[in-house]
Amino acid sequence: EPLVSVANVQKTYFTRQGQVQAVASASINVARGEFVSLLGPSGCGKSTLLMMIAGLERPTGGSIVLSGTEVKEPRREIGIIFQDATLLPWKSALDNVLFPVRILKLPIEPYRRRARELLAMVGLSDFENKKPSQLSGGMRQRVAICRALIHDPDILLMDEPFSALDAITRDQMNVALSEILETYKKTVVFVTHSIREAAFLSDRVVVMGGRPSTIVLDMKMSFERP
Ligand code: ADP
Ligand code: ADP
Repeated sequence: EPLVSVANVQKTYFTRQGQVQAVASASINVARGEFVSLLGPSGCGKSTLLMMIAGLERPTGGSIVLSGTEVKEPRREIGIIFQDATLLPWKSALDNVLFPVRILKLPIEPYRRRARELLAMVGLSDFENKKPSQLSGGMRQRVAICRALIHDPDILLMDEPFSALDAITRDQMNVALSEILETYKKTVVFVTHSIREAAFLSDRVVVMGGRPSTIVLDMKMSFERP
């Protein structure tokens, strides 16, 4: 059984200006442990699909099932990273990482150790007590990765997590991400504009496109990555 099953999902936004059909139809099964990249032109519904898997938007048709139950709201099994790190500016790096633990009302103490371990993994041990404004863009995004992993989700959803970073930092982040995934084997759905990034990281590439948009390509990557 796949970890995530997206079946004939549709999404229409109803706004004051009228309707926007963001996704006409999408079906994808994601196996446990798989790294799937989601590519496609701007506006084709990649973010919308990710938000629906995260339980942050409801589909207007079809169904999304995670670990055997339909996704109706954000759940503990899900970790999400956005393009912009969206850290709380008045909280330290450590407290930002612990934020989901507070939201999910889990006991803080055991997770504090895990938060420190995660920050160490991404090279931020010396920056635990710094505020986001005292960190670089790459460092902030590393804090966001730790925050997405703190509650040990089964699936990590990432929406162009590195696209705001310069090319060098971005390459470093891709390396850091693959190291993290070697330690904490996670299922990943990764939205990107970059075929290079997708090829470096993924087991499988799914391309959305067309108007209204559907899945136009779903391809396993069969070569060995270095
Ligand atoms: P992508 O991530 O591929 O750029 P999006 O999922 O962001 O695509 O957007 C798909 C379409 O849905 C676009 O036409 C966008 O303007 C529209 N859209 C996205 N979010 C909303 C929203 N909250 N309300 C109305 N329209 C939206
Ligand atoms: P991207 O292409 O990087 O996904 P977008 O510019 O499409 O970014 O969307 C950024 C945010 O704005 C998303 O949260 C999306 O839901 C929202 N959004 C996009 N288009 C619209 C729209 N037409 N009306 C309201 N919200 C929108």
